[in-house]
Amino acid sequence: MSTPQPYEVHALKYAHHVRQARENFIGGDPHDGPMPLDFFVWVVTGPGGTFVIDTGFSAETAKARSREHIRCPAASLSMLGLDPNAVTDVVVTHMHYDHAGNLDKFPKARFHIQDSEMAYVTGRCMCHAPLRHPFSVEDACLMVRHVYGGRVCFHDGEETLAPGLSVHHIGGHTAGLQVVRVWTKRGWLVLASDASHFYANMNEVRPFPIVLDVMKMIEGYGTLRKLADSQEQVIPGHDPKVLALYPASKPGLEGIACRLDLGPKEG
Ligand SMILES: [Zn+2]
Ligand SMILES: [Zn+2]
Repeated sequence: MSTPQPYEVHALKYAHHVRQARENFIGGDPHDGPMPLDFFVWVVTGPGGTFVIDTGFSAETAKARSREHIRCPAASLSMLGLDPNAVTDVVVTHMHYDHAGNLDKFPKARFHIQDSEMAYVTGRCMCHAPLRHPFSVEDACLMVRHVYGGRVCFHDGEETLAPGLSVHHIGGHTAGLQVVRVWTKRGWLVLASDASHFYANMNEVRPFPIVLDVMKMIEGYGTLRKLADSQEQVIPGHDPKVLALYPASKPGLEGIACRLDLGPKEG
């Protein structure tokens, strides 16, 4: 098999939430202290096409959930030279409100989702408030509309979407959580989304407390490492360290968007 052409990979921050370390680990944190979350969408561009990974949430949702909304993730794609009206492929890692809002802001896109995630958000588990809480019925209804509109690509497990870009089912955090593996100049990189919120969750094997199946979440940390060329090449879904570690996507986007395929900054 020939080597695929490498992709550029960007992380774009669109929201922030201040919380304590004890809220980020099952069993709390012995040291505690502030451990905020950043909220990202990701953009992968290359000869195989352009893929937007997750769609973030809206300003209205941020207000309802007391999150600090910094910018509309769809409109902000213009900072990376992308028009959301022209995006053709969106990977939805899972249907939580912070990953699958704004589904109406990509009029030409097909949405890539796991069978098991769609079954989860439209099935019996949503009768239970603790499982339902991180989802929005509006997002779920919109995704059902996209199914009926012929705009959803279902995947079951592992699927190659383009040479050098594939999705992989992990589960654990939600029933159908999938991660994205992408070929870059530095080898295989994995966008873990909520398979690991922070570097500490996977690297210290301390699972995040929003979880459907703890064993699958822990096993998922091993899968992430196997899919990437190194532990460093696994990018967590909500860690503010990501923006600090990687170079800005272009001058002027410091603290807003960074280039993950170039590797961490020196020093
Ligand atoms: Zn989530
Ligand atoms: Zn999340």
